[in-house]
Amino acid sequence: MEDIIKEYSKDDVTVVWQPKKCIHSANCWRGLPKAFNPKEKPWITLDNVSSEEIMEQVMKCPSGALSIKSESENKSESVKTDTEIVIIKNGPLQIKRKFVYQT
Ligand code: SF4
Repeated sequence: MEDIIKEYSKDDVTVVWQPKKCIHSANCWRGLPKAFNPKEKPWITLDNVSSEEIMEQVMKCPSGALSIKSESENKSESVKTDTEIVIIKNGPLQIKRKFVYQT
């Protein structure tokens, strides 16, 4: 069975959605309901959010089902990512990624 991959773009940011990877944590629609609404089709709309809001929220997706394809990612001198791993007692690892903008 072929994996489904969908892309949603705004300005220079593209959100990549891989539903097979989703673990239904609800981080996305609880964290940024203006962009992520599982009751709507398409469930991702980027019209009313900034590129920074989108990128920050996507980085909180624990499964990698959401990711960013950004033109600025190609400019390694302008954006880098920081990763923090939190061990939750009796639970899974929580991985936080965030973009660090360099001027
Ligand atoms: S944050 Fe990621 S894993 Fe959680 S519901 Fe959204 S897409 Fe799925």
